[in-house]
Amino acid sequence: MSALSEPASYRPAAHPPTTRRLAADRAGIEEAARVLRAGGLVALPTETVYGLACDATDPVAVARLYAAKGRPSFNPLIAHVPDLDAARRVGHFPAEALALATRFWPGPLTLVVPAKPEATSELARAGHSSVAIRVPAHEVALAVLRAAGRPIAAPSANRSGHVSPTTAEHVLADLDGAIDLILDAGPCAVGIESTILDATVAPPALLRPGGLARAEIERALGARLARHATPRSTADELIAPGMMASHYAPSVPVRLDAREVRPGEALLTYAGARPPGSAHAAAILDLSPGADLIEAAANLFAHLRALDTTGAAGIAVVPLPREGLGEGIRDRLERAAAPR
Ligand code: AMP
Ligand code: MG
Repeated sequence: MSALSEPASYRPAAHPPTTRRLAADRAGIEEAARVLRAGGLVALPTETVYGLACDATDPVAVARLYAAKGRPSFNPLIAHVPDLDAARRVGHFPAEALALATRFWPGPLTLVVPAKPEATSELARAGHSSVAIRVPAHEVALAVLRAAGRPIAAPSANRSGHVSPTTAEHVLADLDGAIDLILDAGPCAVGIESTILDATVAPPALLRPGGLARAEIERALGARLARHATPRSTADELIAPGMMASHYAPSVPVRLDAREVRPGEALLTYAGARPPGSAHAAAILDLSPGADLIEAAANLFAHLRALDTTGAAGIAVVPLPREGLGEGIRDRLERAAAPR
């Protein structure tokens, strides 16, 4: 069995955090940036809705964010940056994306472009090779992004299935005690989420209507937006097969709910479990020896990749808990295990 080391970045959170509420002045902005750099969760005003922000480069922070939102699956998150230069460090901009970014940023337009893989954590992208990027128009959000100095993931600051919050009170009603800080800058101006375009295709395709009207985008492009050939279950959930194909999947078969390790297989385990056959496993990695689902989510993609490169014939995955982030972890593993 080859020795693969566990990522060192994980530190258990002191739960439950108390949620502080700060005015969005200079001191508040600096504190928000400090908490973000330290891996914390901050509700941040943007011109669309309040976002639940975390460091998009830190898989543990991203896992905590998914846990706080109570999302049943890991949706890809939008990376927020303060300007186009920062955006180009996060993704590759095709000509049309560049034109639209120049015309509409800062503003309620999100562009999905091919990712620069090292610039955001794979968990923040939910395994996609593309990344969604936006420069918000809110002065407070921009100041925090500049001070944080790294891409910030920020889905709406509500629990999954609830409506998006446009005031600090809405955020508190949903997330008090589950996040570290709220930066209160009063009500949001736009009140609906950003328009999302898939700019990995030409012409770009509308993924989600939102705060910037389709007609305005089409006028700027001098062309109609493509209709995405692929349906979506809700405004929030991708069910596009083309998109699925761009999900990360190991090159070898993944076998879920494995109760034994078969010859030639590597083992992806949890909470120290060693099913029969483990002694002969090509390699073993534990998503979380201490049975912490946040740590498990943070390790998921890195561990799959590491096991995939060991030369094992397949990856056996032990049965995982179904509660909390377990659902999202299973969802991603099922996609990785799906026949291709
Ligand atoms: P929100 O919850 O408002 O932050 O919006 C996030 C939504 O952006 C996701 O649910 C997806 O619909 C979309 N999105 C984010 N990243 C990507 C991506 N890489 N490819 C396609 N859609 C994306
Ligand atoms: Mg939302």
